[in-house]
Amino acid sequence: MKILVCLSVVPDTTTKITFVEGDTKFNTAGVTWIMNPYDEMALTRALELTEQYTGTVTTITVGLLETEAVIRKALAVGASDAVRVDAAPLDAMQVANEIAAYARIEKYDLIFTGRESIDYNGGLVAGLIGELLEIPSVNVVTKIEIQGTTATLERDIDGGREVLESSIPLVLSAQKEFSEPRIPNMRGIMAARSKPLKVIGAVATNTTSFVQYEMPVAKQGVKMISAENAGEIIGLLHHEAKVI
Ligand SMILES: Cc1cc2nc3c(=O)[nH]c(=O)nc-3n(C[C@H](O)[C@H](O)[C@H](O)COP(=O)(O)OP(=O)(O)OC[C@H]3O[C@@H](n4cnc5c(N)ncnc54)[C@H](O)[C@@H]3O)c2cc1C
Repeated sequence: MKILVCLSVVPDTTTKITFVEGDTKFNTAGVTWIMNPYDEMALTRALELTEQYTGTVTTITVGLLETEAVIRKALAVGASDAVRVDAAPLDAMQVANEIAAYARIEKYDLIFTGRESIDYNGGLVAGLIGELLEIPSVNVVTKIEIQGTTATLERDIDGGREVLESSIPLVLSAQKEFSEPRIPNMRGIMAARSKPLKVIGAVATNTTSFVQYEMPVAKQGVKMISAENAGEIIGLLHHEAKVI
């Protein structure tokens, strides 16, 4: 079984977000990069499937040189090899075009993405890859089992669970519960150094440009009111917060 896992490298969740160049660009100075958490789950499940059925797990990342430390972590966790498309990722369509172009040549049985990247939260890449490759795509999957050329998938729906069957090849996006992320051990870290990390040029041209980012309005400070002063609370809710 040949599985491709799409790895998005995102800022650590504690990152202080600021913008530069007239608020048109995210300021990457001092940012710690991590593997998108949903992609970690996708990677683990891919490894479990190849352990069960044999096969290979390749990761693909659209990103510049600074993403390689995170890609090496995926190799340390157990991926067989990795591909980096040497381009700054700018939007979901560009990322999907790059991944689809590679997958079209290499032909995978399964393509896994995360449910969303935790930076731009588009939730689009899986569906776009499916469309570009003309294969089924299923979003927010919590479980996958394979029988021959059929995949049985589970998804949470409002108040219940949906079970689907799809032929493979297919692309899916992983939701929480898909698997538990694995922590690389020392042996894996050493092995990762000699695993192939192929860097390829971009094929697609990007069509989006970002005009401006705005920070959300800063939250006001907390006002402490003594327990005896119920009248003041009512006054503030009425005149200041205007909720009563
Ligand atoms: C420094 C920097 C600046 C960026 N600036 C912008 C920006 O201004 N606007 C913007 O939209 N995006 C920007 N991105 C790119 C962003 O991180 C995403 O890669 C891209 O926008 C797709 O995001 P999405 O939210 O639509 O992905 P989603 O559809 O939410 O992602 C779902 C899944 O697709 C896969 N995926 C997503 N991105 C990649 C990737 N790059 N490589 C491999 N697999 C991937 C992952 O499996 C992910 O879990 C920037 C990235 C970096 C590193």
